[in-house]
Amino acid sequence: MKVTIEAIGVVHSCYREKFGIPRQPGLVKSAKGAVELLPPCNREEMFKGLESFSHIWLQFQFHEAVADGWRPTVRPPWLGGQKRVGLFASRSPHRPNFLGMSVVRYLGLRKEEGRLFLDISGLDLLHGTPVFDIKPYVPYSDRVADAASGFVQCSENRVAVCFTPVAEEACRRYEEEKGRELKALIREVLEQDPRPASQRQKQREYGMLLWEMNVRWLAEEECFTVLSVTEQ
Ligand code: SAM
Repeated sequence: MKVTIEAIGVVHSCYREKFGIPRQPGLVKSAKGAVELLPPCNREEMFKGLESFSHIWLQFQFHEAVADGWRPTVRPPWLGGQKRVGLFASRSPHRPNFLGMSVVRYLGLRKEEGRLFLDISGLDLLHGTPVFDIKPYVPYSDRVADAASGFVQCSENRVAVCFTPVAEEACRRYEEEKGRELKALIREVLEQDPRPASQRQKQREYGMLLWEMNVRWLAEEECFTVLSVTEQ
């Protein structure tokens, strides 16, 4: 059976590349973005009442996974990238139809130059992600108190993160100019340790894009140091 669906919106995100995006929503609270609504769903009346909900479900496509296809088994990062599990026991982007779902904080509706945006935070989505549906998160039925979470363990371990004076000053200037939190975003992303499991033992320098800024950081055993934050 084939069905055709059309995107109702597109994500504007602080995440401009896959590296650095947290594995699930809600882990990086300072992550900000918006869903830009596309015609015919760019009508304010379609969101009347949504303001009384704090969180929404987004259903979307992992559009940057499509070209790589999918396999029936995957190695989830939760298992150190070593063991294989069935694709449908995972949240991998590489799946038939490449569909994903995330609960994000809903910050409100914004109209700008005739365009309609839903402001969100805590997202785990790449800039440009197509959105297929939006629904309110309803705790009374969506929250399952006695759910077993399999091999997915919520880790409270956070990597220690520090900034060089140069990087700190660059964040301050960016925040002043753009009115966006950058330092907190960098810190929260790095605290999650975005490195692939296979690279966790090595001391190495990395780069990642957040908003339009190139963030360079050094991973050492004890802590991560943000070396520089420069315009792309
Ligand atoms: N919460 C969603 C779910 O469970 O369906 C996403 C979980 S998935 C493990 C999250 C990862 O998908 C991110 O870390 C990022 O690497 C990747 N990702 C996010 N947006 C994407 C996109 N548009 N295309 C491809 N990969 C994407």
